[in-house]
Order: sequence, then structure tokens, then C-alpha cells
Amino acid sequence: MRWENLTADSEHGRADAALFGADAVTTRTFDTPEFRGITFHEIRARSIINRVPAVSRMSFQWTVNPYRGCSHACVYCFARKTHSYLDLDTGLGFDSQIVVKTNAPELLRRQLGSRRWQGEHIAMGTNVDCYQRAEGRYRLMPGIISALRDHANPFSILTKGTLILRDLDLIRQAADVTDVGISVSVGFTDTELWRTVEPGTPAPERRLEVVRTFGEHGIGCGVLMAPVIPFLSDRPDQLRATVRAIAAAGATSVTPLVLHLRPGAREWFMSWLEQHHPYLVPRYRRLYAEGSYAPKWYQRRITRQVHELAEEYGIGPTRTGMPRRIRPPQEPVEPPASGPTQLSLL
Ligand code: SF4
Repeated sequence: MRWENLTADSEHGRADAALFGADAVTTRTFDTPEFRGITFHEIRARSIINRVPAVSRMSFQWTVNPYRGCSHACVYCFARKTHSYLDLDTGLGFDSQIVVKTNAPELLRRQLGSRRWQGEHIAMGTNVDCYQRAEGRYRLMPGIISALRDHANPFSILTKGTLILRDLDLIRQAADVTDVGISVSVGFTDTELWRTVEPGTPAPERRLEVVRTFGEHGIGCGVLMAPVIPFLSDRPDQLRATVRAIAAAGATSVTPLVLHLRPGAREWFMSWLEQHHPYLVPRYRRLYAEGSYAPKWYQRRITRQVHELAEEYGIGPTRTGMPRRIRPPQEPVEPPASGPTQLSLL
């Protein structure tokens, strides 16, 4: 593994200055059912607040990512590519070789206290899921949220992990002193599709329970409806079922995002497609013939359909008694045109 080449911006594809020392790596496995087959590489990071390159066109400038790799194992995950910077495999390796920045909470607290830090919004869960299974063991997020709360630093979290409910009280405390955005990713509600394409994630209905629970505690929660998977989750009745379920969970917003297949994710997804839906391979080759994105007309059609459904089902910030500082989550406006910083379609 190229630990010595990890850099302050390596999650963004640059290899300038060393971030981790090779001597800081401890490798662990745990013989419990939830961690079987997973190897954890514990490292001490030298920096934890990452700047998002301007070319990425994200709606946020700063991210914190305590993990790399993700046991949620979504076949389409964009972050797969980032594992190649560590000389790790972007397929099964991404799902099972998890890098853990064990000093993330203390490092973040220090960096937030630096005179150079301007207190800008920090987005989490935009590269890999900070509430993936590893978080149950390493418990980095409580320290991270506490640091953000204590510095009244605005932040947002995007996740597929139900584990976020463990930190609900902390998130509430943070929301009393700063702007907080919570968003859950639910691209579809088809259980069969979920089992094969997002095999390590909580089921969609469990994720929607998270949305519901946050709402019941006065914390508005948006849904990133991502990805909408062409020919597998984009039929009108499927879109309707998904938006209806999102509305029933009390989501404050729904933002659709069509599957994009950039290098790293594309090969893995296409081999999955070949195995599970071989008849769709030629249609995918045609739909993604121009590159990583489905054609604009297709994206617009899905967006329009979802927005119409959202209006029909009345999705919006309708709850009363919502804390003043709870805002709709910071969601990506659109996928980046270029550059390796990318939404992993959490
Ligand atoms: S899409 Fe999100 S939840 Fe799924 S593997 Fe990637 S980072 Fe994890």
C-alpha cells in the first residue's frame, strides 16, 4: 500500500505531501459476524479538514472523512476510484479494506481551534459513509460532532447508515448552536434491487425510519434520491413508490440524482450488470456512450418526474417546532464535471 504517498489532498487525487507515515499503520481484523472478512487499517492522519477543489462544483468547500473504503459496498459507488490512490483494489478491496483515521476527532478539534480556520460549513458523508459499520466499533463521529458543536461550526451529514440515530442527541445539541443539515440517501425502495446493488447497507425502509425519527425529534431530514438506476428503478410506478415512501417518512426535501458511472465505479457496476441483468448491458452501453453521465434529456426527465411526484405528495418543510438552526441539508447541486472529488451516491 502506498501509505507514504497519501497526501493532504489525496482524496482529491493529488499526491503532493505525505499525510500518513508508514509507521502509523496498524492492521486489524475482528472475528465478529458484522466484521468478518473486513480488514481495518488504523492510521493517524495529519490533516482532517479537506478542501474540495473548485472544479468539483459542489455546494460545499470543506469535507471531513474519517474513513476510506466502505463496507456498505454499493456496486455503483463513485468513491471506489479513491482506493486506487492507496494501491488498494477498487472492487472488493473497497468494500473490505477500510482505512480508519483513529485520531480524527482530536485532530478536527485542533484544526477547528486554529486561527486560520474561518468556521466554514463542513460536509460529511460526501466521499464515503461516516456511519458505515466500522463506526459502530470506532465511534469517531461522536467526537467529531462534539468538536463541531463546541466550536459552533456549521456542518451537514449525508448517510445510508441507521447508526446515525445513536448520535441524535449530539446532533440536536449542535443544532442549538449552529446550522446543521441531515440527509439520508434512498434511491429506490425495491427490496430485490437493494439486496444486490447495495448489499452492505441498511434496507431502504430502515433508512426511511431514520428520516422519520429525526423528524419526530424536530430535526428536518432531506432525502437524496440517489441513484435512480436506469431501467431498474426508473419506471413511473417505481419512482412513485419511492417518492411516496419518502413523503410518508416526513422528508423535508427530495433531490433525485441519476446514476453516473465514472471510471472506477463503471467497471465494477458493469460487471455486476453482466451478472445480474445481462440483457441490459447493450442498453447501458448506448445510454452511457458519451461518458460517465446519462444524457441530459434522461436526467431532466427523471428530475421532472420526481419533482412532480414530490409536489403531489407534499414533500417540504411542513413540520412546526423545528429548531431555528436546523436547515435543509447541504446537498450536492449536481455531479462534478471533472476532478476526482465526487459524491459517492450515498
Ligand atoms: S455509495 Fe455511500 S454507502 Fe454506498 S459504498 Fe459508497 S460511500 Fe458507502
